[in-house]
Amino acid sequence: MTEHGEVAIVGAGLTGCLLACFLARRGHQVTLYERRADPRGRPPERGRSINLALSERGIDALRRIGLDDRILAGALPMRGRMVHPVHGTPGFQPYSVRGDRAINSIGRGALNDALLEAATALPGVRAVFGHRLTGLDPATGEMVFRTGDGEAKATAAVVLGADGAGSAVRARLKEYGTLTEDVDHLEHGYKELTVPPRDGDFALDPGALHIWPRGTSMVIALPNPDRSFTCTLFWPRTGPGGFASLATAEAVERHFAAEYPDLVPLIPGLSDDYLRNPVGTLGTVRCASWHAAGRVGLVGDAAHAIVPFYGQGANCAFEDVVALDRCLDDTGGDFAAALPLFEARRREDTEAIADMALANFVEMRDKVASPLFQLGRRAEHA
Ligand code: FAD
Repeated sequence: MTEHGEVAIVGAGLTGCLLACFLARRGHQVTLYERRADPRGRPPERGRSINLALSERGIDALRRIGLDDRILAGALPMRGRMVHPVHGTPGFQPYSVRGDRAINSIGRGALNDALLEAATALPGVRAVFGHRLTGLDPATGEMVFRTGDGEAKATAAVVLGADGAGSAVRARLKEYGTLTEDVDHLEHGYKELTVPPRDGDFALDPGALHIWPRGTSMVIALPNPDRSFTCTLFWPRTGPGGFASLATAEAVERHFAAEYPDLVPLIPGLSDDYLRNPVGTLGTVRCASWHAAGRVGLVGDAAHAIVPFYGQGANCAFEDVVALDRCLDDTGGDFAAALPLFEARRREDTEAIADMALANFVEMRDKVASPLFQLGRRAEHA
């Protein structure tokens, strides 16, 4: 495979757009195929805004292509966790000993728009929207898409699947017989609510990631540039206190008053929003091989989706892009050699972070609230 052949990237999400920037820099002609309409300037789907904690792992990738300052200008630094007990005063736990390190809250939509804008501004990159991949022959690179008008076909020398946790490219590699997968859905789902600004200002401290740990459940809130907070409930789907158990406005209000009393006055229309917003799915994808026929590969969530409790899914996906770029450097730009090398170098790390993300759910929803944990942290900081 030559260094400058045409590359198709399926999915113009965070991974696909960043990957397009890196590949264009190597001189490739890149086409991004995206199932959605052009997202730029559109509001996110109801209850699916998702604000991300962007950390050094992800910022490093942006820095390499000079996008870090532009993107961080729209982010809010969070220097620690603010833990909200059921009753009493919230307690701040800094992320670093000197309190000078932060993770950054950024809207997924804003980040995606900025990366798409950066990619399509580069020579050689084009984005095609309203194209959902439905078929792929790894042996030839022929792709089939469902479009608004019916069906479209295209062929590329290299096809990279950056189409997220439910990847259609991964499904085609499974059919092709070169991939096995293990997809673990969590019993917990997530639902978003909004804490709007209060008297024009943030209703909570914007310098912290807020957590309401409640044993088997938790709520978190991250600040947005418009001075609102996106509040995400991570609750079991069923059972007492699960999403399914709160089916009426009265039940929702009673539950919040008992478990999250300080949130109640901050969310006007709480029960309406709760009952209207969808419950999202969370899970872990482990699969192998990530590549086939020397021309097809998986990157980002398509290869290794993880639960969000370590705040590392997108950060890890950005790290993938840097790792793949390095594999292309080390193989003289030969995708047939770079794709297996990428998996060999990366899979162990992504499997480790998948386990850490699951373990951190227990820490966030339970241990951060325990007096022993807080004593331990005070000793760490002494
Ligand atoms: P996606 O963002 O899923 O993008 C895939 C793209 O492919 C989409 O545009 C989709 O429309 C397109 N697509 C899908 N199928 C097709 C098809 N058949 N044909 C064409 N296009 C297709 N990560 C962090 O780093 N920090 C956090 O704090 C964090 N918090 C999170 C909180 C929640 C509630 C959730 C759910 C996730 C969180 N994540 C976080 C994870 C992060 O959102 C993902 O890791 C990241 O979005 C992965 O990017 P991606 O581009 O690989 O996949």
